[in-house]
Parts: sequence; structure tokens; C-alpha cells
Amino acid sequence: EDVSSQFTEMPKDKLLGGLLASGFDEGSCLSRYQSSLFRRPSLHKPSSYLLSRLRSYEDLHKRCGPYTKSYNRAQKQLKSNHSASSTKCKYVVWISYSGLGNRVLTLTSTFLYALLTNRVLLVDQGMDMADLFCEPFPEKSWVLPVDFPLKETFKILSQKFPHSYGNMLKKNISNTSTVSLPSYLYLHLAHDYDDHDKLFLCDQDQTLLSRVPWLIMKSDLYFVPSLFLMPSFEQELSKLFPQKDTVFHHLGRYLFHPSNHVWGLITRYHQAYLAKADERIGIQIRNFDSGLGPFQYVMDQVLACTLKYKVLPQVDRKRTIVTQSGKANLKAILITSLSSGYFENVRNMYWEHPTVNGDVVEVFQPSQEQFQHTENRLHNSKAWAEMYLLSLTDVLVTSAWSTFGYVAQGLGGLKPWILYKSDNQTTPNPPCRQAMSMEPCFHAPPFYDCKTKKGIDNGALVPHVRHCEDMSWGLKLV
Ligand code: GDP
Repeated sequence: EDVSSQFTEMPKDKLLGGLLASGFDEGSCLSRYQSSLFRRPSLHKPSSYLLSRLRSYEDLHKRCGPYTKSYNRAQKQLKSNHSASSTKCKYVVWISYSGLGNRVLTLTSTFLYALLTNRVLLVDQGMDMADLFCEPFPEKSWVLPVDFPLKETFKILSQKFPHSYGNMLKKNISNTSTVSLPSYLYLHLAHDYDDHDKLFLCDQDQTLLSRVPWLIMKSDLYFVPSLFLMPSFEQELSKLFPQKDTVFHHLGRYLFHPSNHVWGLITRYHQAYLAKADERIGIQIRNFDSGLGPFQYVMDQVLACTLKYKVLPQVDRKRTIVTQSGKANLKAILITSLSSGYFENVRNMYWEHPTVNGDVVEVFQPSQEQFQHTENRLHNSKAWAEMYLLSLTDVLVTSAWSTFGYVAQGLGGLKPWILYKSDNQTTPNPPCRQAMSMEPCFHAPPFYDCKTKKGIDNGALVPHVRHCEDMSWGLKLV
């Protein structure tokens, strides 16, 4: 497809089936309305109930967002360190933490929690998140003001933080009356959270939390699947998402619009390397073993998977020329990885040998950053651009455990081939499998029954919450 000429046409479904609010200044965020020029239309329609809840959230955000009367009043209460009295608006503050893929997933989880509990989501961007995303809500920013009273405290939030919900429970404040409720609580929902912190995901605890005006949340987990196991949210969630495996797909497309700077990276790359192909294949290679790579056992795994499931065409190693009848199919392979070795290997394979079926294969890799350095701005822009470019492909291969891949699959509405995690540096057999759904995996769910207070297999309770393909103890929506 010729994307440049499409720019002159009116896109068919600019607002993604009503998911996006109209009335934004288009120039300030080109991606919001141009994304439909680069993606095939989604196969999944958001429910009309989700659309109406998003519109009412937008109204709430307008009334309660930064520097509104209600906001000023609520943040004064924090400053004066008084116990909570009821405020008009209640907030959940999301703290920037971990890699970019993780952040996108936790922001989505936090936003869904805000929707379910009628809270306003505010975002502490940290040092390195400015200029990656557009504002998602009309009129009022989602960015937490710089003069927010607890800003200094954010630097020391950890599992041990005394004002965390888990630690307060340990000190047994849970049955205190409204009068002595704190004006804020810290929710530690990261991989190292303990059994007390995990009680956040129990209905009984939500009753108390609902009276606290400010919740401060730090997480590197996509905790949405556990929200689906909470009886108090069950009905609302099934109205919001009649198709349960579309949570991240819809909320991700609603919230995350690349800033103009990142949109430039995405569109220039797409037009230069991907637009003219007949088929686009994304391969995301993320390795959690130590050492930079490339590793032979990973290369072997990528080829074993992609050739076995016909994601990539076979090459003919005996013949030097395969004569082509008719027009050759042009396949563009987009590889993302911190290392450049895999890309070079695949590209050379298709240069040195003809494909069996005559397909013409071009191979690209936008960046080779070598190391993860999350604090660097252009590094993050490129990471975001690459996740987005992967989401624009037709067929996707991702790496086990990687939130980077989850973001791409969810935004793209794709069920990827997941490369299994390898054990002691060997190629797993089978090398990969196709995902059951496009949803991300919750890597560290609690296995606790809030009612009986006993251990339980949370992946066996309902048909729509299952253990993940790539992590046997994880949970995902299907
Ligand atoms: P995860 O660790 O795979 O779950 O994904 P995260 O996005 O949370 O953290 C990994 C970080 O490493 C990314 O945000 C990037 O900063 C960097 N990174 C990992 N793989 C790639 C890649 O293929 N391309 C780029 N540009 N950065 C990557």
C-alpha cells in the first residue's frame, strides 16, 4: 500500500470505532488520528458501554484534573497531613517504574482500576517519560503537577515503605474507623510484593481503600487478570469487556498515542522500509540470559520456529537460482533486538540463498542499542517506536516473558508465536507456540483465595483466566 497517498484521503475510521474522543487539536498529536492509515482496522469492536464509561471518565478527569478546585482541595489535605475526610475527587497516582513495556502495561492496569473505582489517574512521569506519549484525555493533563506534595517521597517508595498498605496491615490498622484513615496509602504491586501487599487484590480490602483519597501505586505487573477474579468488579468488567481478551487491545489504543517526535520515527521508518511489502513479519528477540548475544541457541530457535510454522519462507541451500514465474511476493521482516547479530544472520541467509517459493525477502532492524538504558530519552523513543512498528506487522513472533512483545501484540491485535524461554542456554523443543490470546501475561499473581484465606490455583477458577503460554505460574485473559 502507498501510505503517502493515503494521507490525502480521509481515513475511514479515525476515531477507532468511537474509542477516541473527538475534539483534540490534531496537530499536537498526529498519531491519534493517523494511526488508522497504518493499521488494518481492528477486528474487535469496543462495547458501547466501554465507550460511555470512557466519556464519563473524561468528564471526571476534566472536573478533578490538575489545578482544578477539587484537585487543589484534595492536595491541600495531603499537605496538612490530616486524616482523610471525604473529598469530591479521589485519585490514583501511577509512579514511573521499570522498562517501557512494563510501564505501558502497568499504566493500563492502573487506568482500568481507576475506571472501576471512579478514581482519577495521574501520572508521575519520572525523568524520562516526557515526550513519548500524547495526552490521552481532553483538556486536562494526566501528568501529576511538579509541585505535588509527596514528590520527594516517591524516590523512596519500596516494599519496605512504612506507609504502604501491606505494612499498615501488618501493624493492624485495617479495622480503624473513617476518622483515622490516612489521606494517602502507598500500594506496592511490584514483583517483590509480599502476602500483605497482595491483599490489594481482595474485595474486602477494596472497601477500606475506597475511602482513601490518594492511592500511590508502583508496579511492574499487568494485574488486570486478577481484577477479573474479584467478585465486586465482575459484573462491571463483563459489561465493559464482553470479549474478555480485548482489555489491553482497547485500553492500549485508547491511552497510548506516540508523541509527534516518536510518530516521526515510526512513520519515516514505515514508509522507507515496510509500506511497499506484500507481507510484514515482526520478530522480537529479547534474551534474559546474561551476556550481550547473539547466541547460537537463540538463532536456532528463531529459525526452528519461523520455518516450522511457515512464518518465514524456506531457503534452497542447493540451488543458486530459483526461477520465478509471475510477480514475486515481497516479504519485509522487521527484527527488533538489543543486539544486531540475529538480523545480520537472517539477512545473510536470504541474500546467500534463494527462497524455495520465490518470495523476495528484505530484512530490517531499526536500532541496535546493545544495552537497556531506560533513563535515556532517545533510547526510550526508539523502544516505543519499535514496539509500535512491531504492532503494525501482519505476523508476529515474540520472546517469552517480555512485556515489550506484549505491548506490540496487544496494540496490533495479534496472537504472536511466542519463543519459549530457554533452559541453560539450549534451544527449547518445541521452539515456540502460538498465543491463546493477544492479552499480556500477569507475571506474579497471588495464589490466594480471599474468602477462605487459603492457597488456590487462580488459573483454574474461570475459563477466561488461564495460565500463560510462556510462564506457567502467570495468569492471562483468554
Ligand atoms: P521487557 O524487559 O522485555 O519486559 O520490556 P521493557 O520494555 O519493560 O524493558 C526492556 C527495555 O530494554 C526496553 O524498554 C528498551 O529500553 C530496551 N529494549 C529491549 N529490547 C529492545 C529492542 O528490541 N529495541 C529497543 N530499541 N530497545 C529494547
